[in-house]
Amino acid sequence: MKLLEEKIRRDGVVKTEDILKVDSFLNHQMDVALFEEMAKEWKRLFRDCPINKILTIEASGIGIACLAGREFGVPVVFAKKSKTSNLAGGMYKTQIQSFTHGKTYDVIVSEKFLSAEDHVLIIDDFLANGCAVNGLMELVHSAGGTVEGVGIAIEKGFQGGGDALREKGIRVESLAILESMDPKTGNMVFRPQPQQS
Ligand code: 5GP
Repeated sequence: MKLLEEKIRRDGVVKTEDILKVDSFLNHQMDVALFEEMAKEWKRLFRDCPINKILTIEASGIGIACLAGREFGVPVVFAKKSKTSNLAGGMYKTQIQSFTHGKTYDVIVSEKFLSAEDHVLIIDDFLANGCAVNGLMELVHSAGGTVEGVGIAIEKGFQGGGDALREKGIRVESLAILESMDPKTGNMVFRPQPQQS
């Protein structure tokens, strides 16, 4: 998606070879008009899927997921990172290793908000190694639901998580895919995406 790539080039900061900072428009301050365009693009890409729920993970997926929820006309659920290992009942749970902090979190969703009837679109801000998406898929499968696809804002293609999911037959639509980034020059190379506007 050209608009997002341009925004990343203009306002993204390459911190290291594998960490991109986008806190001026995506995951701290939020460019809601851009989120709206991203949501429209996911809606276009997943127009043939019977999506009735969106699932994301706190905190930085929530903003983009809300706009996507409006566009699809479906509820948005966010998985919560729980600090207590002694979790209450009535929850689907899994563990996710945080790419940015290195820690492993217990992640939960109430059984009230995911079921076998659900056809879920998973949304997140970044896809790196795929731990977050795999954990969210596990929660949907625990409920007996169907993962229709995965919508990502920025995939770091060189970390392999997205292509590993695609090889398993999962539909992953990332609006910008970075093939490399250089912390010295700030240079970024994007994967060409002919199907996107
Ligand atoms: P994964 O689980 O795919 O390895 O990493 C995805 C998760 O880690 C996302 O939920 C995102 O919050 C975080 N993340 C991964 N890479 C980056 C990055 O380069 N910058 C930022 N800000 N977050 C990242």
